Amino acid sequence: MIKLHDKVFKPFLGEEQILAAIEKMATEIAKDYKNETPIFVGVLNGAFMFVSDFLKAYQHPCQVSFVRLSSYHGLTSTGIVETLLDVPEDIDGRSVIILEDVIDTGRTLKQLVHLFSQTNVKEFKIASLFYKSDVYSGEYSIDYVGMEIPDNFIVGYGLDYKELGRNLREVYQLNQNNMINLVLFGKPGAGKGTQAGFLKENYNLKHISTGDVFRYNIKNGTELGKLAKSYIDRGDLVPDEVTISMLKDEVEKNPDAAGFIFDGFPRTTAQAEALDNFLESKDMQIDATIALEADDNVLVARLLERGKASGRSDDQDEDKIRNRFDEYNQKTAPLRAYYEKQGKFHSVNGIGEISEITERLCTVVNDLS
Ligand code: AMP
Repeated sequence: MIKLHDKVFKPFLGEEQILAAIEKMATEIAKDYKNETPIFVGVLNGAFMFVSDFLKAYQHPCQVSFVRLSSYHGLTSTGIVETLLDVPEDIDGRSVIILEDVIDTGRTLKQLVHLFSQTNVKEFKIASLFYKSDVYSGEYSIDYVGMEIPDNFIVGYGLDYKELGRNLREVYQLNQNNMINLVLFGKPGAGKGTQAGFLKENYNLKHISTGDVFRYNIKNGTELGKLAKSYIDRGDLVPDEVTISMLKDEVEKNPDAAGFIFDGFPRTTAQAEALDNFLESKDMQIDATIALEADDNVLVARLLERGKASGRSDDQDEDKIRNRFDEYNQKTAPLRAYYEKQGKFHSVNGIGEISEITERLCTVVNDLS
């Protein structure tokens, strides 16, 4: 794995595989052109390495030149193609073979075909080292292909991600993260902990409940526990600084997790922002925030019932419970808009049989792309 800017890439094609594909292309092209002197036109910047190795494999008379177009900015093709370096001079009556590093949608290719159609060349052909046939939507059929590859973002061997990675000898592909990271959202008593228990089994996720971590620390008399206790006893939120660093520790402790369920975190905008930044730094992201919705009176009754069994002091006093709701309304409720803006917010009816509610949650998770 390598990291370029903010993205992680994994090995895809080794040097030998690439060179073998180039050898094959050179042989094919030589068969058609060895009796004349074709002009190979490399498309900069991506094709520079390919052109170099291709020419070393093509041991017949030939000339070389370059054009420069641009359509990639970051990971997606913007569709804007500029001509930055024009067609070579003196190509009239000559056979031109365009050497491209990769052909995907075909936008750049269309521009190249357009460019060379306006010249008086004898003929022009397109040779591409890599070809993403699944996404190619152009009309021109590619004359010489080194290798067909699936539609993954690739870097290395001349290809870049935001200008990095061109010097790699091998080709890497974007590590499509198939983690699932969920935030369970909802007032105290909404059933987040109960449902997290089922989701964690269903999807093999690591469940992090900040409330549980605090209670564990209080029970064990740790510094963190001592710090958090007074806030928790009153039903107030523990300061962000403390909670955020604790959450990060919990994630760091599980580097092999297939994903996380964040239960009771984030509870403030500062926590949500810190979580996004932290996950991004690890090439992770929240996939969905799922809110369990239930009426306040139902929740108070549930919490008082729970308090009897668990002995949790913050569940036994209606004033403390109401204070937790106030904290929620003031500090946590705005996160709904925060996640809605990211298109990640899902609302689920939290009233009903536990298994029914689990099913509602699973429907949301299964629909995530
Ligand atoms: P919970 O078990 O999620 O209801 O949390 C119990 C208590 O722990 C809360 O009332 C807060 O005092 C504290 N707590 C849990 N998670 C957080 C958080 N993300 N931010 C601040 N305080 C928290």
